[in-house]
Amino acid sequence: MRTTTIPERDQTEARETLDRLEREFTSESRFSARGPGRAVVMARGLSRTYGKGDAAVHALRDVDIDITEGRLTAIMGPSGSGKSTLMHILAGLDQPTGGRVSIDDVEITRLKEKKLTQLRRDKIGFIFQSFNLLATLTADENIVLPLSLARRKADEAWRRTVIEAVGLQDRLTHRPAELSGGQQQRVAVARALITRPAVLFADEPTGNLDSRTGGEVLDLLRRSVDEFGQTVIMVTHDANAASIADRVVFLKDGRIELDEDRMTRDAIYDTIKNLEVTR
Ligand code: ADP
Ligand code: MG
Repeated sequence: MRTTTIPERDQTEARETLDRLEREFTSESRFSARGPGRAVVMARGLSRTYGKGDAAVHALRDVDIDITEGRLTAIMGPSGSGKSTLMHILAGLDQPTGGRVSIDDVEITRLKEKKLTQLRRDKIGFIFQSFNLLATLTADENIVLPLSLARRKADEAWRRTVIEAVGLQDRLTHRPAELSGGQQQRVAVARALITRPAVLFADEPTGNLDSRTGGEVLDLLRRSVDEFGQTVIMVTHDANAASIADRVVFLKDGRIELDEDRMTRDAIYDTIKNLEVTR
């Protein structure tokens, strides 16, 4: 074996690199391990200010949050507390004024637009209050749309599993206008699950549904976590919706005010009332 002498300067550099890697590893290693307990989404020191000077609105103030794999996290809080801002930043749809976000160990707050678009397509599923289906496509075409856009083929077994889970087997050739609100949102859930995203974001997913069909959509989200190990982040106003979550995070004035494991509907309702009166 041949040994080479490493110049002093390079040795110093190598040592510094190793020290840095070790620091990064020890501070973040618990987030990097695969499996239960791993943080799929990690945010540190997030702030978001809209406007400048006297007119500045601090929508988020120094928020740290980790979202654990395979759990359903609800984000609640009074209107204007920063829920949508937080969700948009965690999903890479908006940039924070300060702080950083990583998804699946990739720091998205540093990515250029093209890479970010690709990461959103590969790693993130979305469900919106207003379904956002394409009117000219059938239910089936809407469901596989994220794969078509990525020029990926559907895994047939997974596609069948998802369609069966949302109960749309006999509605696949219908267009959105021929489906009820609840059925349309179930198409949207299937579309979000089809790529097996690292994280699924749902923004008021039951906001446009009556309580019964809303309940069906909530059941589906819950099952996607329990049966498929899906990680879900749901923004909601609704105490009933949040009561299916494994964790409920309450925002107030851009800060995390309370962060609790599973809560009953009544406990959530009381907490919201308290947050609103202490404004
Ligand atoms: P929530 O979703 O909890 O209702 P938002 O995140 O939408 O709260 O808003 C948080 C704060 O930021 C509010 O005071 C809101 O008025 C303000 N805000 C949100 N978006 C904008 C924007 N594009 N320009 C200016 N202010 C904004
Ligand atoms: Mg909002």
